[in-house]
Formats: sequence, C-alpha cells, structure tokens
Amino acid sequence: MPCFTIDARDPGSRARAGRIATAHGEISTPAFVPLATKATVKGMLPAEVADLGYQMVLGNTFHLMLNPGAELIGRLGGLHRFMGWDGPIITDSGGFQVFSMGHGTVAEEIKARPSRGRAGSDEQREGRILAIEEEGVRFRSYMDGSVQWLSPEGSMAVQAALGSDIALVFDECTPFHVDRAYTATSTERTHRWLRRCLAWHREHGPPGQLVYGIVQGGVYEDLRRESTAVVAAAGCDGVAIGGSLGACKEQMYEVVGHATAELAGAHESLPRHLLGIGDVEDLIRGVELGIDTFDCAMPTRLGRHGTALIADPESRWRVSLAKSRFAEDASPLMDGCPCPACSLGLSRAYLSYLVRSKELTGMRLITAHNLAFIAQRMRSLREAIAEGRLAEVAAALRSGAPSTACFR
Ligand SMILES: [Zn+2]
Repeated sequence: MPCFTIDARDPGSRARAGRIATAHGEISTPAFVPLATKATVKGMLPAEVADLGYQMVLGNTFHLMLNPGAELIGRLGGLHRFMGWDGPIITDSGGFQVFSMGHGTVAEEIKARPSRGRAGSDEQREGRILAIEEEGVRFRSYMDGSVQWLSPEGSMAVQAALGSDIALVFDECTPFHVDRAYTATSTERTHRWLRRCLAWHREHGPPGQLVYGIVQGGVYEDLRRESTAVVAAAGCDGVAIGGSLGACKEQMYEVVGHATAELAGAHESLPRHLLGIGDVEDLIRGVELGIDTFDCAMPTRLGRHGTALIADPESRWRVSLAKSRFAEDASPLMDGCPCPACSLGLSRAYLSYLVRSKELTGMRLITAHNLAFIAQRMRSLREAIAEGRLAEVAAALRSGAPSTACFR
C-alpha cells in the first residue's frame, strides 16, 4: 500500500501537499525534519520539538552504530524508546558520513561551500576510510580508532535494530570534485547496493519500516535522470535525493528539478526527500520543485552558535547575537514568532548577553527559535498549496514577510 497521499497540488509548479503514513504516525508535507543525529535534537526535549510543530526527526546510522551501538539501542527497546520520541523517525544510512572520510571534507565540498552537508563538521573529525569495495566500506572509527565495516546489508541491519520508521539505503555519496566517469561508476555501484538493501529488507526488515532509495548522479542531467528512474522502479517506498548538487544554488535547483521531473507521472505517489538542504530560499524553491521533506543541520547548529534566523533576505536570513551591538537592543528576535523567547518577549539584549556569557539557556532558546522559524515557513507553504495561493505566499516569504499573519 502506498505510504503517501497527495491532498493538493499547486497548479503553477510541481509542489504538492500531502501526508506520509508511518508506523508512528503521519507527517504532513511539505515538511522540514530536524536532525537528531545522535539520538537527540541537540539541546531540545522531544516534547519541545513536537510543540514547535515537528512530526519527524532524523537519526544517524553511522554515529549511533559507533556510539552507543545499535544492538544496545535495540536491547533497550529501539530508538524511539531510547530517546523518548514516539513520533516518526527517519534514519540516514551512514553512506554520507563514511564517504565524507574518504573524500576529505565532503560535507563542505558537496555543495561547494561550507556547512551545507548532511553531517556537522564537528561530527566528522578523525575518521578515516580504509577501503571501498563492492561488498562495502572499511573505515577507522573516530570514537576509538577501531576498524569498522559497513555494507548495504549492515546499514539496513543497524536501521532495523534502531527500529526507525523510514530507513535510507546505503549509497556512495558522490562528491563534487570527481569527474563524470567516476560519478557514473559510483552511481552504478549505488544502484547495486540499492538492490542489496531492498533484498535484505524484504527478508529481515522490521514490519512497517519504509525504505527510501537514494538518487545519485552528480550534476549530470542524464545520470541524475537515469538514477532517479532506477530508484523509482526498484520498489522503494520513497526517493531521497543525495550527493553533489552543484556549485551554486541555480545548479542545485536544476539537479533537483531533473530528479522531480523524472518522478512525475507513474512515480508521482513516491514521497521525495531532499538530503541536507535547509536554507530558507532553498526550502521554498525545493517545495516548488516538488520536494516533500527536507533535513539539515543548519537551524540547530546556528542556534548553538548564537545565530538566530530572521525574516530578512538581505542579511541572509540570520543575525549573530554573539555581536555586542545587540547589548542594549530591547526588541524581541521576531514579532509573531511562537517560540518561547519571542512569545515571552525576551529582548535581543538578553539573548545576546546569554550567548556571550555561554549560558546553555541561550543556546536552547535560539535553537528553539530557529526551529520555530523554519516550522512556521513550512506551515505557510503547506497551507498555501492547499489554498491554491503558493505563488503569492512564496513571494511574500522570499521578500521577508515577518510572519504568516502579515499576509493572510
Ligand atoms: Zn522566536
């Protein structure tokens, strides 16, 4: 039975609004998925994440298999129980993190700019890839230097032990700097791994766990389209778009567009996830291109560093409260924001003081604000599709409309 129901379509773009049904409940789409890489949305309690409007979080195979170990989490009742989150969980396959080590700082390389990967740069130190073989990948753990092995079957077994609602297949995350020949060879291996993941899952996968395939193919239109067609025809429950999305935003939109164009028609009912993307303008454009879910470290990572998201494209949607120029600023972060800091009317001066004093409360408040900011924008886009007003609402959001209240 298909897991995805499309409730509304935007007549002027490929955008759609719908619901993904999982064993732990539904996700209304389009939606952003906060990272719970190491079994926690950093600094936030599960109930706080849900209160901010999130239905699903993303855990990470690679990090959790190294520490504390998938078997332990399995013995303790699975990832939901372990972290106290009873909503849907999607788990990344570990492919991105493993190949980040082999290709240098892929997280920075992958979209040809820093801090835009599927993992935090603070989470990739010291690991090292030892061998990439058809069977799988041997690497050295960043935890204790031990030699570890991850294969398509191994990744699926870890995700089965974690008990996630959506598992991602193990892929080679092709970086930006490699040539077309490498990208083609690597994409073909990813397709063979896809079939092995699905075969393992048919035999051993936990009941109710959905599996998303991952589209690779770098920036090459024919490779992307071919990869999309292979993944869509393989019998996956959904499609994730990964790997190098190009050197600039325009190229990224082109690459994503190739994939979603290929999914139109016969494969329309497969939900589509865009890996590692979360900038405000990319979320809007991604929705217009027909993406249903997104994940990215950005909102939570910025929050921990004292940078708040604001409705101002001129300032790249962000303001650094670590700067002392806010020391006497009595205004709140953002009018109309439902997060604890804004609804309490806390001043930028107070938040800036907390950040500069390295108080944990500051990190928590700004993380919550950033998550609320993104959730609010995704909700506006979702409602706009249902109401047939996406073009108008997308334009308002792009221009920095302060909140939905301003244009409803
Ligand atoms: Zn706020």
